[in-house]
This record gives sequence, C-alpha cells and structure tokens, in this order.
Amino acid sequence: MLPVCPKCDVALFILHFKSVTVDYCDKCQGVWLDTGEFDQLAGCAPPQLTASTPTATNYLCPRCDSRMNEMQAAGNVTLERCPNGHGLWFDATELPRLLGIVTTAAAGTVLTEIFSKLSTRNQGETP
Ligand SMILES: [Zn+2]
Ligand SMILES: [Zn+2]
Repeated sequence: MLPVCPKCDVALFILHFKSVTVDYCDKCQGVWLDTGEFDQLAGCAPPQLTASTPTATNYLCPRCDSRMNEMQAAGNVTLERCPNGHGLWFDATELPRLLGIVTTAAAGTVLTEIFSKLSTRNQGETP
C-alpha cells in the first residue's frame, strides 16, 4: 500500500535519512514518522503526549487508514497519532518545533540535514 498524506491525499515521498525512513508530503511539507523514528531522529524519546479527551480527526493513518487522534504535545504543538500505534503525523511546522523543544544542538543538526535533503530532492532526484 502506498502511503498517502493524511491531509492532502497525495502519495508521500520516502526519504532515507540515516537509518530512518521519513515519509514526506511534497504538497504540505508534512512528515510522517513511524513509532520509534522520532527517537532515532532526535536522539531521545518524543515529548509526553497528552489527550485529556482524545479527539478523532478525519485524517487517516498512512499505514492502516484508521482515523488518527489529535494529541497535544509540548509547546502547544498538536499532532495526529494513529490509534493503533503506527506513528505520528507532523504538520510542516510541528516537527521543527518539537525537535527544538526536546533536544538542543542535536536537533539543529538533524533539521539542517533533513531540510537540505528536502530542498535538493527537487533538483533532479526522482522519487
Ligand atoms: Zn500533505
Ligand atoms: Zn495506523
């Protein structure tokens, strides 16, 4: 099954970054991370996610097509999480914000590398 952006319904690009497979939407610049991938990218566990009242969204998990739940994370970041534990969806600005919160220098390095890879992808590399 081809992973599809929960927000735009277009196929996601797969980027190999270190040992992590990052699914990236070219249209909205959102990023899907499977469970455990955030840890590998940031070098630490994801921040505590809270959902006092889990809110079902209309956004579907790229892995299993279940409706994802809206979660609050540190820094007023809202994420969508698969109810079956497949992973997390980050809107364009959410991943940088979260990485900036949970890590310090490492996050800067990771983000620079990711976004330089994203920007060079448009210059000849085909998905
Ligand atoms: Zn999208
Ligand atoms: Zn799922």
